[in-house]
Amino acid sequence: MIRKLLRKVFRRPATSPHHEPALIPIEQHGIARSQLSPAARKVCSTLQEKGFKAFVVGGAVRDLLIGQTPKDYDVATSATPEEVRALFRRSRIIGRRFKIVHVMSGPETIEVSTFRASQDAESAETDEHGRVLRDNVFGNQEEDATRRDFTVNALYYDPGTETIVDYHHGVADIQQKTLRMIGDPRTRYREDPVRMLRAVRLGAKLGLSLDPAARHPIREMAPLLENVPAARLFDEMLKLLFSGHSLKCLQQLRAEGLHHGLLPLLDVIVEQPAGERFVTLALENTDERVREDKSVSPGFLFATLLWHEVLQQWERRKAAGEPSQPALFEAMDEVLDGQARKLAITRRIATDIKDIWALQPRFDKRAGKTPYRLIEQPRYRAGWDFLRLRAQAGEIPMEVVDWWDRFAHANHDARDELLLEAPPEAAPARKRRRRKRKPGARGEAPATPESA
Ligand code: ATP
Ligand code: MG
Repeated sequence: MIRKLLRKVFRRPATSPHHEPALIPIEQHGIARSQLSPAARKVCSTLQEKGFKAFVVGGAVRDLLIGQTPKDYDVATSATPEEVRALFRRSRIIGRRFKIVHVMSGPETIEVSTFRASQDAESAETDEHGRVLRDNVFGNQEEDATRRDFTVNALYYDPGTETIVDYHHGVADIQQKTLRMIGDPRTRYREDPVRMLRAVRLGAKLGLSLDPAARHPIREMAPLLENVPAARLFDEMLKLLFSGHSLKCLQQLRAEGLHHGLLPLLDVIVEQPAGERFVTLALENTDERVREDKSVSPGFLFATLLWHEVLQQWERRKAAGEPSQPALFEAMDEVLDGQARKLAITRRIATDIKDIWALQPRFDKRAGKTPYRLIEQPRYRAGWDFLRLRAQAGEIPMEVVDWWDRFAHANHDARDELLLEAPPEAAPARKRRRRKRKPGARGEAPATPESA
């Protein structure tokens, strides 16, 4: 304890020898400033005009080098958060662990962070497992590069000169398709175990292979994840599931030994033999939507991941004689109460999940006014997408899904006809048992020829 304190007090400013970064010109890296978003360029030029250093850094530079479109831009600067805030009218200081500034420009938000010093486990405040709790000490650009996780994430692009500043051979690693940790991987995982998940996600998303030195310790160090706050794990798992490569990521997580008991969410995904097909379909569907730049929502995805648990409870309750609708609501609460805390599902997401589930039995009622009311529901589309997934997984007939699609898009007369054609109440959702309908028993249309 005392030794640690002394080391803290007498710590030399830079423990590792100072080394000059490579300055890589546009002729070698090929990224023109015109490829950056207007807001990222503007933020950098404004800061530079005031005499501060400012670079686009992190994921955006890496993605551009790989040929992917950055999803957002981070800027690193020598200006303090307060100095940044003062320069941009539409900006605000945010941050719990450390202060950063969000600068709004047109539709974009640029995340601007001040160069930070790397906080190793000796100098920083840590928990008993060596996890760094605070890393909010400002530093110079070289220190800022060293505190980042992977070499490919520590590249600084200067839009003014179109030069990349590279302290850790990140450009070479991208060319060699390698995801390499800066510093000693074991130490870096101990400081922040979430880096293990980032390694898997970024490897899958970028098509980089994880350097063996960073891969090997994962199996052994995986239990450190138990010590990470649930909300942070949840955020990282969401990033993973919405990376556009969720199936590949999940495979990789299992291959690296990051499963079972460590990631409650992964347990949910992996441990459902009955719902495996459903969950796989849902993840494929999510990957496809992300890659096509369509919207995806955590509520929808979690509704799919937990659906089979709900189905089981629902069936059990109905078998015990409970009426269908209340049985479903009880089952929903039961599953969500059990999982929401463990998975750190936020209240808002839980509401979304319930909305989607609660719509499902309403798709069974294809008579009277009910269908008209259902298609006016704000969550109708999400509910229908979910219904389609259930049909694709073989849980219900595809005919029901098609019927609703036609109904939603039909004009008034066509809707009346569709109502005549449909059975008012579809058979309850059951797994495996195929329903054979006798030709004559196809629903009791409101007006039969006899009654007409
Ligand atoms: P993407 O945005 O595509 O998910 P990213 O690398 O930009 O990937 P962010 O979470 O936006 O990820 O982080 C921005 C940058 O901050 C990273 O590129 C990296 O340099 C640094 N960084 C993020 N998380 C960590 C971490 N856990 N440890 C060290 N550096 C990190
Ligand atoms: Mg980013």
